[in-house]
Amino acid sequence: MRTRFAPSPTGPLHLGHAFSAMVAHDMARAAGGEFLLRIEDIDQSRARTAWEAAIFEDLSWLGIRWSEPVLRQSSRMPAYERALMQLARFGLLYPCACRRRDIEAALEAPQEGALPLGPDGLIYPGTCRGRAMSERDEGDALRLDMARAMALIGGEIAFEEVGPEHEGYHRFTTEEMIAGVGDVVLARRGMGTSYHLAVVVDDAAQGISHVVRGADLFEATKIHVLLQRLLALPTPAYHHHRLIRDENGRRLAKRDDARAIARYRAEGASPDDIRAMVGL
Ligand code: GLU
Repeated sequence: MRTRFAPSPTGPLHLGHAFSAMVAHDMARAAGGEFLLRIEDIDQSRARTAWEAAIFEDLSWLGIRWSEPVLRQSSRMPAYERALMQLARFGLLYPCACRRRDIEAALEAPQEGALPLGPDGLIYPGTCRGRAMSERDEGDALRLDMARAMALIGGEIAFEEVGPEHEGYHRFTTEEMIAGVGDVVLARRGMGTSYHLAVVVDDAAQGISHVVRGADLFEATKIHVLLQRLLALPTPAYHHHRLIRDENGRRLAKRDDARAIARYRAEGASPDDIRAMVGL
């Protein structure tokens, strides 16, 4: 078994991150497996090395040990580019110049009420679909043509969930992927990759057997499994754990400094206190 914790160094580690890291770490240790760390810093406008150092420090303090080397996504751009080129060769990508307001306007026209939302935001109405890759401008994103992608892999994706909340085998048809996910962005404007593409390429590169992460990413897993199929990468097992919430039931975010591990440390809490706070 090999698990990982993949934080973005864009703020302090809070109770929710600590819980995620501990679940992944404990699971690997209990099975005599390995626990790895990956720094998800593709968004260079938000990532800071100071946050990265703070993450290492908090994790060490929690008693978490990881195998070296730590993989940094900012050093992996050639691998993401290769994956994109492979998808482009299959005829599955197209450049897209739409901004959020264009997408909203296109969706509002035929639609009354709530706009269709998928795991990656608004379901793209297909305005730029059919544009050739040779027309790609510097300011364009790259989208996956979902209908073509599903046709190429034979019309169904599936994965095994081993976490308690959604335990079982999950299957999704072409219709569900088109209506519920749509043409997702795989290379964001000015970034050359996206969370979805990078996480898939790197989970495979690090040989992750069990992806442990928050239940908020359960729906995004269908995108990841589809990309694994398209790129001929193995599909790991998934364990989506419950989210740590504040007293109002809201999930914790990076801005929740009050629940930062560093803050509890400064106030004299022990690693066992942190475990107890998140129910471990
Ligand atoms: N960097 C992502 C996050 O902090 C990790 C997502 C994942 O584990 O797949 O939410």
